[in-house]
Amino acid sequence: MTEVIDDLLRYINASPTAFHAAANARQRLQAAGFVCLSEGDRWSLTAGGKYVVERNGSALIAFRLPAQWSAEAGFRLLTAHTDSPGLKVKLPGSADVANLLMVPVEVYGGVILSTWLDRPLGLAGRAVWATPSGLEVRLFNLDEPLAVIPNLAVHLNRDINQGFAYNPRQHLSACLGLTSPADLRQRLDDAVGCPAETSARYELFLYEQTPAQLSGLKRDLLTGPRLDNLTSCHAAIAALVGATAAEAVSVAFLADHEEVGSVSAQGANSAFLRDVLHRVVLALGGDAEDCLRALAGSQLLSMDSAHAVHPSYLDKYDSTATPVIGGGVAIKTNVSQRYCTNALSAERFAAKCRQAGIPCQSFTNRADMPCGSTIGPACAALLGLEGLDVGTPILAMHSIRETAGVQDHLALTAAATVFLG
Ligand code: ZN
Repeated sequence: MTEVIDDLLRYINASPTAFHAAANARQRLQAAGFVCLSEGDRWSLTAGGKYVVERNGSALIAFRLPAQWSAEAGFRLLTAHTDSPGLKVKLPGSADVANLLMVPVEVYGGVILSTWLDRPLGLAGRAVWATPSGLEVRLFNLDEPLAVIPNLAVHLNRDINQGFAYNPRQHLSACLGLTSPADLRQRLDDAVGCPAETSARYELFLYEQTPAQLSGLKRDLLTGPRLDNLTSCHAAIAALVGATAAEAVSVAFLADHEEVGSVSAQGANSAFLRDVLHRVVLALGGDAEDCLRALAGSQLLSMDSAHAVHPSYLDKYDSTATPVIGGGVAIKTNVSQRYCTNALSAERFAAKCRQAGIPCQSFTNRADMPCGSTIGPACAALLGLEGLDVGTPILAMHSIRETAGVQDHLALTAAATVFLG
């Protein structure tokens, strides 16, 4: 148990952005013998082989082929997302204000803004610059307390505890100290190794610099940044790496841009997954009809964090279907198809979990409140296959630090493994 959780903590702490989450997943897969494919190459795949293909450096699809392929066996698909809500730096807007370097931000996804203030923040992202032989791309992570977004003193904002609407443009600029925009750019250029005569272009994010860790009297809670949805990415990769020989093609899709609606080339609402599955069938000697037949016999397990019942806000939950911390994998259903689960997919999954002794529970939203969503419905719709949405219950979803149960992550990993069967 501790090995899996230690590995999860390492994965989260090494993955401050979607780029890092995808790169670290790819490295783990490569260490387990997965071969990198390029989308631009002609693929020649070997029975029993293990492969991974990345897109934009922030999303990937990995798959294991069975020793003997047949279209009827289809695919077993695990999905999760690499991105988390956060603050993206607008580097060109950096300015010296009242003696301090203030860096403006834009808000990515549904952030609980107040949780980002008055705490040490690191800087991480991707740098790109032109060279005579093409674009140079580097990931970087300045894992130091470089920035802080200070609140206004309570004496000057007496009503703040009655609730305060932070204006992202006015109130959320990050303070980097007594320095200048030129110093910041120099620091970044030095970190990524950009040559002095060149100007790098940055995709730069602030992140929670305090690492993910265990907490609670018995260390049975996990508290940290980006649990939504790096816990699911970790479970998907662990399940795919640990999967034994199956009849179906086992697949893990880690998508980007879930937190902003999934419509991008590397998001779940794209042709990426469908095209890769199509190419797998063609490379194995199948044709277009075999591809459709394979999809007809396939199943999708979409993994994303679920809302654990919060002991201080019991009225926010439907009392008949409220996942608790420590209660196992939450199966999510929603009549408006915000989740793709139906009775067939739920029972197929629950029966496998029962057989393996993996605890499951149910989640439905209160009927008078809007429901969140995830990538399950888009993937199921684009591929035309049966799926379900599950996840580990967490507290404070989209806070800079979220809280989950250690046992629930072990249950999700076991359930993903059993699903690939
Ligand atoms: Zn999520």
